[in-house]
Amino acid sequence: MVQLIRGFKDILPGEIEKWQAIEKTAEQLFEDFGYRQIRVPIMERTELFARSIGEDTDIVEKEMYTFADRGKDLLTLRPEATASIVRAYIQHKMYASDPVRKFYTIGPMFRRERPQKGRYRQFYQIDAEVFGVTSPYIDAQLIVMLSTLLARLEVSDVTAHVNSLGCPACRPGYKAALGELLASREADLCADCRRRSSSNPLRVLDCKVPACREAMADAPSLLAYLCTDCRIHFDTVQSMLTDMAVPFVTDERLVRGLDYYTRTAFELQTGALGAQSAVAGGGRYDGLVKTLGGPDIPAIGFAVGFDRLAEIAFADREPADQEPLVYIAALGEKSVAAAFGWSTRLSAAGVHCEIDFSDKSLKSQMKRANRVKAGHVLMVGDNELDKGSAILRNMATREQVDIPIDTLVESTIQYFKAL
Ligand code: AMP
Repeated sequence: MVQLIRGFKDILPGEIEKWQAIEKTAEQLFEDFGYRQIRVPIMERTELFARSIGEDTDIVEKEMYTFADRGKDLLTLRPEATASIVRAYIQHKMYASDPVRKFYTIGPMFRRERPQKGRYRQFYQIDAEVFGVTSPYIDAQLIVMLSTLLARLEVSDVTAHVNSLGCPACRPGYKAALGELLASREADLCADCRRRSSSNPLRVLDCKVPACREAMADAPSLLAYLCTDCRIHFDTVQSMLTDMAVPFVTDERLVRGLDYYTRTAFELQTGALGAQSAVAGGGRYDGLVKTLGGPDIPAIGFAVGFDRLAEIAFADREPADQEPLVYIAALGEKSVAAAFGWSTRLSAAGVHCEIDFSDKSLKSQMKRANRVKAGHVLMVGDNELDKGSAILRNMATREQVDIPIDTLVESTIQYFKAL
């Protein structure tokens, strides 16, 4: 038997109800904040991700699923959604009538990471992006919206970690200071970090290798190097979070794994997840629209890890099964033939109806009705056909009523309406 690919997974009925509930909650909340849904392809030209996420990142260096399309264009399964949304914003000139646009999207992402608990090669993200707003209020509002989502999903023990990564005016000063420190500690760093020390020194702060962590323990803080504008921006974000009573900590080590971030970077972590504690992450990327060929328009966004969310959302609630309202137990060929029309028309009219078209014994059909947790069973055999009425039994109360066969569909609908 052919098995699914390592790091990929199926989401089966029984589990999917929770995913649907999460999706609905997110969509409703985001729409109330003025976000509109956008759907972008799951494949793009490799260049889009290389240019936006950055050549020296883990994602682009080693995690992308990239292939030459029939030996021609180099294509990549998207490792995240931001780059595609920015591309769409620019390509369709969505800034022309009103640069302020808010989008959300939900879908699969692909990264060839080492599979482990909470880490998949195809995983899902809920993603939101805002274009055209410079003000720090939008940064704070985005984080409040995200915290509200987690609260509505009954995720406990959530803390926002926030940091500022500065801007092209102040980050070079910090990079230079960090670069000097890295040069003096080169011998203690892992091979990746040694290479990155010159090309992308910030990423060294993010390295999980214990030796690198130790070597960087007394690294200078980015916050000490912020220019006045970045400092004011970050102070406002923090005081708005305080005003809105969002639990947060300032985490000067938070750099995030993508190159395009400027100023505010954040992650939402929860104690409910164990080692992979980050359930969502995001930040401001004021330069990306321009880098990708658009006008100079600021932006900010986040991605929530849907798979991780599904593990911890609604922890105290059993998801409700889709239980049928009525199961039709038809006995004998003639009844099965009649029940085909009834069940099809009932389902089409919005009455959840189950039937197995099997002509099995009443006992075995009742067993199946119980297994699928049908609230009612409609019983019909040759006797009922002769008499002109079928029997509808309420499985909980065991009460039975007769339903006339010549108006069976309408009468059954009426019966349920009256319940
Ligand atoms: P990122 O796009 O790396 O900022 O990730 C945003 C969120 O997506 C993370 O906080 C995780 O919750 C989730 N995520 C990222 N990579 C994976 C993965 N390989 N498997 C499952 N969830 C992931």
